Amino acid sequence: DVALEVPHHDFEKVLDAQKHKRKVKNDTDLDASDLRAVIEGYLKAVKKHTGADFPTDPRAQLRAAIDAVLRSWNNDRCVKYRQLNDIRGLKGTAVNVQSMVYGNMGITSGIGVCFTRNPADGENRFYGEYLMNAQGEDVVAGIRTPQPISDLEKNDAHSYHQLLDVRGRLEQHYKDMQDIEFTIQEGKLYILQTRNGKRTVFSWLRTCVEMVEEGLIDEKTAVKRMPAGEFNKLFAPILDSEDIKKRSIKPLTRGLNASPGGACGQIVFHSAEAEKLVKEKKKKVLLVRIETSPEDIGGMAVAQGILTARGGMTSHAAVVARGMGCPCVAGASDLQIDYAKKTLTVGGQKFKEGEQIAIDGFTGDVYGAAVSVKPSEIVQVLSGDLTEDKSLLARHYNKYMAMVDRLRRLKVRTNSDTPKDTDMAVAFGAEGIGLCRTEHMFFDLPGQKPGRVLAVREMILAETEKDRRKALAKLLPMQRGDFVGIFKALAGRPATIRLIDPPLHEFLPQKDNPKGQRAVARELKIPVAKVAAKVEELHEFNPMLGFRGCRLTVIYPEILEMQVRAIIEAAIQVIAAGGAAEPEIMIPLIGHVREYEICRQQAVAVIEEVFTKKGRRIPYKLGTMIEVPRAAVTAGAIAKAAEFFSFGTNDLTQMTCGFSRDDSGRFLPRYVELGIYDYEPFAVLDQEGVGRLIRMAVEEGRAARPDLKIGICGEHGGDPKTVGFCHKVGFDYVSCSPYRVPVARLAAAQAAL
Ligand code: PEP
Ligand code: MG
Repeated sequence: DVALEVPHHDFEKVLDAQKHKRKVKNDTDLDASDLRAVIEGYLKAVKKHTGADFPTDPRAQLRAAIDAVLRSWNNDRCVKYRQLNDIRGLKGTAVNVQSMVYGNMGITSGIGVCFTRNPADGENRFYGEYLMNAQGEDVVAGIRTPQPISDLEKNDAHSYHQLLDVRGRLEQHYKDMQDIEFTIQEGKLYILQTRNGKRTVFSWLRTCVEMVEEGLIDEKTAVKRMPAGEFNKLFAPILDSEDIKKRSIKPLTRGLNASPGGACGQIVFHSAEAEKLVKEKKKKVLLVRIETSPEDIGGMAVAQGILTARGGMTSHAAVVARGMGCPCVAGASDLQIDYAKKTLTVGGQKFKEGEQIAIDGFTGDVYGAAVSVKPSEIVQVLSGDLTEDKSLLARHYNKYMAMVDRLRRLKVRTNSDTPKDTDMAVAFGAEGIGLCRTEHMFFDLPGQKPGRVLAVREMILAETEKDRRKALAKLLPMQRGDFVGIFKALAGRPATIRLIDPPLHEFLPQKDNPKGQRAVARELKIPVAKVAAKVEELHEFNPMLGFRGCRLTVIYPEILEMQVRAIIEAAIQVIAAGGAAEPEIMIPLIGHVREYEICRQQAVAVIEEVFTKKGRRIPYKLGTMIEVPRAAVTAGAIAKAAEFFSFGTNDLTQMTCGFSRDDSGRFLPRYVELGIYDYEPFAVLDQEGVGRLIRMAVEEGRAARPDLKIGICGEHGGDPKTVGFCHKVGFDYVSCSPYRVPVARLAAAQAAL
């Protein structure tokens, strides 16, 4: 298979045919004459594929094995590694030839893989599996489903107890969960290797928290170890147990709980088909395989979940699914899968491709029906739908986040425009709002009194300042109400509220929507030609570089006036009622300090007027986004006038790199493949380019105003690598969407360490 590159499948076919002929289930049930027949079949397969006889000279076999190792180095990563070694003077590579011990020398021999704790959920219980009279490959390839390690005591008590002793010693030594491979050759235990065990994020969480409690590691180690890129999987959905109970859905069978999470989707047996259904038809699929191999990777990546009939916790399906954070049930041996007929049979029930099933990666249960999927236990506890005492996971999570918060300096805020999102973000640990995009409030949301977008349209279509003000007056109470809701949800935490940003055409039905234009005309009682003419007038070739952000409020100051009035009146209302509010008014798309000064003067005038009218003053801040390169390079001048900077790295990336935020998907993935950029620059900050501008702006800004408050509110604010950068450069906070707040807190602590 490896050395001669004969497809693995061809060998399996021979073995399966012989088992079928003898009507036996396991290869160990074959006798010597069967094995002779199998070997003949194998030899034929080799001859067919290589055109030569199987090499019987040991030197030729060794040579072929060495060549295979070197060949496996021929992928990109290894080429890079080799070049690196060449640069360091470590020319060449070595192949170790090592004597082996054998697990397939009869019934007193065996092999196994074990984890000192559970790699799926982290429970501190010896975990693993073994096979007597077998080779390591038999476990990994999922050809035979192995037995749980605790059964080894019955087969070979001595080796089992020795193994338990090794388990304890290795954990104490490495201070981490170990993944150990062993062989028993004729009753003697050999440890082949040990390494830090790969595990799910659930297992990371539990092992980290419990190891701190056991005194094995300190809090810093526990925080440093967590793979930040995986952290969000803690919030992955689970199967709705209420739904299962209510409809009395019984599990069809149970396999191994190889990778956590609940998944539901239509059965697909082949990876290529899975990819097609997901990409072209937007279906949710569950990949069902006898076992998986590396060529299934594409299908595994798009599937909601993976179900296999063969293989253990260390089989390909289990390992890859855990790595992807994809729910997986492996080795559900009752499943009979017929690839040719595209059917799955279990417990007398037959399912065809396309039918719905569900799997529970926490328990290993498989359900022959669609089951609804609901938020993770942590999300339920944080949103108050479940009490903490009902969830061990949530208790571990809260303990862990307390450690994280003890270690970080950077604050974490959220991007949110509604009280509901704000509540969730605060539950996730947000310490304020870093970006409230007020224009999102210009649209009618379900459950709200309609009329907002109509008032906005009326304002846009108005021909005189007077008419514009009339329309804006309709918006004022709605915006004020929105801000009251936000301030209340924040309970005194600061809120950076940004004034209108997008180009106005985004609020009108475009040319391709004449029906929508007619509706607007009807509602506003104006001729449709007027709407069409306005759309034409607002059309821009580069709207993202056009009439938007502060440019709108410089030209139409009445928009700014209404928004600022709404913010300050709302804050005063909340404070007057005994609450707290900390408004920070943010002007977007500043490129020139004079733009900022004009907007600031207008804002201050309105604020003073409100203070006078209400007879009370409240603290507030006025600041700007830094998202135009010109603003970054003239940050010193801007900081003299602005109390805070918030880096809008979406626009700053767009304008620095010259990539359209909306269209660059056509080539950027390829750019990353080619290594032009290490990461997609709209997801992970380009530190070398955009980051350079940010550093400059921070330095100049702080030189001009030492207490300048600095944050980030572009999408990058929730990316762990970018959070690390922000810490280093001396930001006060990062801001990201509610669900990314926990990972940003973790990344901030890791950066501080
Ligand atoms: C930004 O540009 O990074 C930003 C946060 O603003 P928006 O995405 O709304 O343009
Ligand atoms: Mg922007």
